[in-house]
Amino acid sequence: MAVPPGVSERDFSRALEEFANTVGQEWVFTSAEDVQLYRDAYSPFYDEKEDRVASAAVAPDRVEQVQAIVRTANKYKIPLWTFSTGRNLGYGGSSPAYSGCVVVDLKRMNRILEVDDKVHYAVVEPGVSYFDLYRYIQEHKLNVWIDPADPGWGSPLGNSLDRGGGRTPMREHWDAVCGLEVVLANGEILRTGMGAMPNSAVWHQFKYGYGPYVDGIFSQSNYGIVTRMGVWLMPAPEAYRDGRVSVPLHDDLVPFMETYAYLMNSEILRGTMLLESPLLSYHVSQGGSFFEMPKGPSIADLDRMARDRNLPYWSAEFRFWGPPKIVDAQWEVVQEKFGAIRGATFADGRNYRFPADAGRVDQRDAPLLVALGIPNLGVFGLLRGGGHLGFSPILPMTGEAIFKAQRVYGRLYSELNLPAANQFAALPWSYYRRALVLLFGIPTTKDPAQNQQGRRVFERLVQAAAENGWGEYRTHVAFMDQVADTYSYNNHALRRFHETLKDAVDPNGILSPGKSGIWPKHLRKA
Ligand code: ADP
Repeated sequence: MAVPPGVSERDFSRALEEFANTVGQEWVFTSAEDVQLYRDAYSPFYDEKEDRVASAAVAPDRVEQVQAIVRTANKYKIPLWTFSTGRNLGYGGSSPAYSGCVVVDLKRMNRILEVDDKVHYAVVEPGVSYFDLYRYIQEHKLNVWIDPADPGWGSPLGNSLDRGGGRTPMREHWDAVCGLEVVLANGEILRTGMGAMPNSAVWHQFKYGYGPYVDGIFSQSNYGIVTRMGVWLMPAPEAYRDGRVSVPLHDDLVPFMETYAYLMNSEILRGTMLLESPLLSYHVSQGGSFFEMPKGPSIADLDRMARDRNLPYWSAEFRFWGPPKIVDAQWEVVQEKFGAIRGATFADGRNYRFPADAGRVDQRDAPLLVALGIPNLGVFGLLRGGGHLGFSPILPMTGEAIFKAQRVYGRLYSELNLPAANQFAALPWSYYRRALVLLFGIPTTKDPAQNQQGRRVFERLVQAAAENGWGEYRTHVAFMDQVADTYSYNNHALRRFHETLKDAVDPNGILSPGKSGIWPKHLRKA
């Protein structure tokens, strides 16, 4: 049996016994076979000694059990690592940042505590998946939509805590959170916001409560175990439509993005956009690259190619949700504003009324389903089953920033000899309202030599991003320190603040050591 570092076998056995007394022997897992299930299937250290592995797992069913587990862990100084459904693939899955942690698996806490379709929110426990919540809403015929992550088997609670994104107007998952219940490292229960008031009538409707707003410190953090969460939902829209806007030339991207930001920040456009390039797609089909490569064709050459082939350089699909009159008007305004770019073209897309047209929705179109609030696993088909390491730097919402990223990563891809036909990496998404994000998926395999190369690439990508002022918004457990290192303003003032908080709220350092680069005192590097 594996034992957490720094813990004696005797203390560990006693702790496991106490865990078993708390949750029942059948919910404590110590055999290699069981613990193996908590490994990261996409690990960049697969079968190497640095692979992050758990020592054991414990699966509580209710908050009192979580409190008891934390108290036991404090007594024997057992490091814990908490997850909700553990589907955080690309970022570590259910594996800890610190090897030897006991994994606290919250999948059994899967109660949907409330769904309100008059003021539009849900209250969920950690183990509730997007599928669960969707089914519940369907079965109870409630008039709300959820905003699932691309793979629908994750949890609203876990995904929101890690600040993931979806595709509908409620796509900023952390932004949709309202009111938490948290078990602190000392075993005490804290309710945030209005929940601090006993019998609060508005816990999940007003975020701020009174005094300092603390909810944020429980996201991407190791200051507590969240045991329930309020999540705002979208009123079920009467209609959905989409349309495509294309512009002909390279430099058109600057006014294109300016128009986009104007429409987005005016809330005429809502939801996630992926910038696409029909011209670059053609270029890639001819052996070219989505990036701007040092020895590739010049922009003038590409513009010429765009003209000759009659292919727009840039294009994006925009989605609209709401009453028919409103979505029609929004699409009209979008066309009017982009129409100021010479040569802009527009194409009407899908147009549904709900519930009448639900049967017309193409069930194989995974991104569309997600945009319609229907969880699915289609994204794995798009990934073709391969493992990957997520690298996702945040960029300004401007054409100039996209050009710069194209050049910076083009140079790097060429230097590192990487396949540059990766549209997802080269072209940005707007998962977050006021900024863009690039999504790199660096392949991971079961071959240590290839993984070593992947890690080197990852490190270079992080470094190149930081040099240009682009931060990674979330990262794999194996790279949390490196990414935290890039947030270094004023001699790492932010990290030092995180550490001050950590020491105050978790003096024994038992909760998720190393999460987001935050280590307890005894594990901190000098
Ligand atoms: P999902 O399965 O929804 O993708 P996870 O359950 O894997 O998400 O959680 C993502 C990350 O968020 C975890 O690695 C962990 O760091 C953090 N996390 C998840 N659930 C909790 C929780 N209940 N309390 C504290 N942190 C959590």
